[in-house]
Amino acid sequence: MNEERYLKWDARFLALAELVAGWSKDPRRKVGAVIVRPDMSVASVGFNGFPSRMLDRGERYSNQESKRSRIVHAEINALLFARERVVGCTLYTWPYGSCDRCAVQLVQAGIGHVVFPVAPHDESPEGALMRAKAREYFLEAGVGIRWKEPAAPYPRSSEGEPTAADLDAVAEEEKQRRATIVGDSLASLAFGGTPFKCE
Ligand SMILES: [Zn+2]
Repeated sequence: MNEERYLKWDARFLALAELVAGWSKDPRRKVGAVIVRPDMSVASVGFNGFPSRMLDRGERYSNQESKRSRIVHAEINALLFARERVVGCTLYTWPYGSCDRCAVQLVQAGIGHVVFPVAPHDESPEGALMRAKAREYFLEAGVGIRWKEPAAPYPRSSEGEPTAADLDAVAEEEKQRRATIVGDSLASLAFGGTPFKCE
């Protein structure tokens, strides 16, 4: 696939990962993961949360110790819910790349590529360290990495700074774009992973 097509499909699957992240009940950290087969069809999705047979209650999320002990990360949920081997598949995550613990399990499962947005600027030092380790592991194991800017750059007005109208226009355009992307992606999921039609 050429660069332009990678950009297009990466944007689509990252938008789907962002949608899936919104399904998490964790009020502080919502993460989404999408596993995509080499033919660009969706094999599985996952978001961070407690196991389905355990109470998924708000107060358990407010206690950091309890949360850390019970939570299943989005990537691992996506692996567990895949009904097939995922060797050579690509994993998309939102809003950032995997932690080191997920990374080793993704390597072991045979994931071939990972794609994620660059980490938010306000990421904690601990988070940055985990993600740095994860990248090292992916590189060591020969997993391809692509990372993306999370949003389109704002247009500049004649004064050099975006105006409120500029920002409104960007927000509206982004909303429309995501609605289209998510619509396409969900249509594929609804048909049990029918391959996307490549243009
Ligand atoms: Zn993780």
